[in-house]
Amino acid sequence: MLRHLAQTVDCPTCGRPVEWTTEQRWRPFCSERCRIIDLGAWVDGSHRIPSADETGDGSSDSRLPPGEPPAASRSG
Ligand SMILES: [Zn+2]
Repeated sequence: MLRHLAQTVDCPTCGRPVEWTTEQRWRPFCSERCRIIDLGAWVDGSHRIPSADETGDGSSDSRLPPGEPPAASRSG
C-alpha cells in the first residue's frame, strides 16, 4: 500500500486527519487546542497508561541491586 501523499494521522482529540509533516508542530494533533485538551485529559486522569511497568516512583521494591545479573542463566 504505497501512498504518494503525505501520511496522515487522525487527531486523537477530534479525529480530524492531520498530515504528518514537519510543518505540523502539533502532530499528531491538528492544532494546539486539541493537544492541550488531550494533555489536560492526561493530567486529569481520564487516560490510563496501559503499561504498569514504569512507575517512576523510585521505590526500591522489585529492583535488582547493581552488579547482580538477573537469575535467568542457571545450569543445572
Ligand atoms: Zn484535533
